[in-house]
Amino acid sequence: MRCITLARRPDGAPVLEDFGHETRPMPQPAEGEVLVEVSHLSLDPYMRGRMSEGPSYAPSVELGEVMTGQGVGRVLASRVEGVAEGDIVTGMTGWASHALLKADALRKLDGDLPPSTALGVLGMPGLTAWAGLREYGRPKAGETLVVAAATGPVGSLVGQLAKAAGLRTVAVAGGAEKCKLATERFGFDAAVDHRAHPDAESLRAALAEAAPDGVDIYWENVGGKVLEAVLPLMNTHGRIPVCGTIAWYSGAEDTADRLPATWRSILVKRLQVAGFIIFDHWNLMPEFVAEMTPRVAAGEIAFLEDVTEGLENAPAAFLSLLEGGNTGKAVVKLTGE
Ligand code: NDP
Repeated sequence: MRCITLARRPDGAPVLEDFGHETRPMPQPAEGEVLVEVSHLSLDPYMRGRMSEGPSYAPSVELGEVMTGQGVGRVLASRVEGVAEGDIVTGMTGWASHALLKADALRKLDGDLPPSTALGVLGMPGLTAWAGLREYGRPKAGETLVVAAATGPVGSLVGQLAKAAGLRTVAVAGGAEKCKLATERFGFDAAVDHRAHPDAESLRAALAEAAPDGVDIYWENVGGKVLEAVLPLMNTHGRIPVCGTIAWYSGAEDTADRLPATWRSILVKRLQVAGFIIFDHWNLMPEFVAEMTPRVAAGEIAFLEDVTEGLENAPAAFLSLLEGGNTGKAVVKLTGE
């Protein structure tokens, strides 16, 4: 089997040399395991964190270990009751052509939707949007929501669910093309291009125009300049679900001088800022899948995938994702190589 490993820990932004390309013996399933031929691998921003050492909510990938990640694929051999050869399953396969999955760590997929949707709109990012909005955003009709990385799997679903709940939705996205996608495909009421605004003040002015009644929910996906722009626009009793801070994943400029103003905004506006990690809500996956699958199948919920061909191209696609090079859910397609 072929796999991509962590060859060295990145110093700041990762580079291609941080990854290793290896061929290893084909693993054999033990009792309670299946052997999967991976057809699609998910690339997600959290993987940047796993490349570094240091305390986090999940352990780092060790040097020489296969990069962590979720995949979908076909079962080649099964020693799990209820899972047969040929079944399509999803689980933590890692960046590899084949993987062993344990019985309690795999989910069987069925239905007519492409299996890759289990990595995006009907998988971890989709659940993040669905559960996080309900639990921490608590949207009410008539309110205004702002979300950045708005054409990605999390942001695009947050926007669509908020819109369906009767909110005004404002996208922040990188570039004119993504802004067009946000409004035309994902139904945002307005979109602001963060790349067109060199500083937080100018971005704030554009956002103030797009959100004339202020912001009730700022769904935090990126941190950085966008957070700085939005915070003063928050309405009293606003909510900020802190989902991700991708602008800072490879290091942050010194933001210490902004800390007192940030903390003061939270106090005087009585903001509810709630960090959350979706693994704490994994028990909601069956409810989420049951509710969202028919809506996605009916075309009521739009989704978009950015597919890279070939496992060997996963590192380049991942580096591109961290820079906003992906348009839609980043997926690597393996089968057929
Ligand atoms: P995306 O597919 O949307 O990819 C990341 C996007 O972030 C890029 O395409 C880019 O979009 C945007 N981006 C990157 N750098 C910057 C920057 N400096 N400023 C503004 N935007 C930037 O990712 P996901 O939808 O998978 O994830 C979105 C966020 O949610 C991430 O922060 C991720 O870590 C987090 N997350 C958290 C989870 C949790 O449990 N808390 C679970 C899943 C995801 P653009 O070009 O439009 O700017």
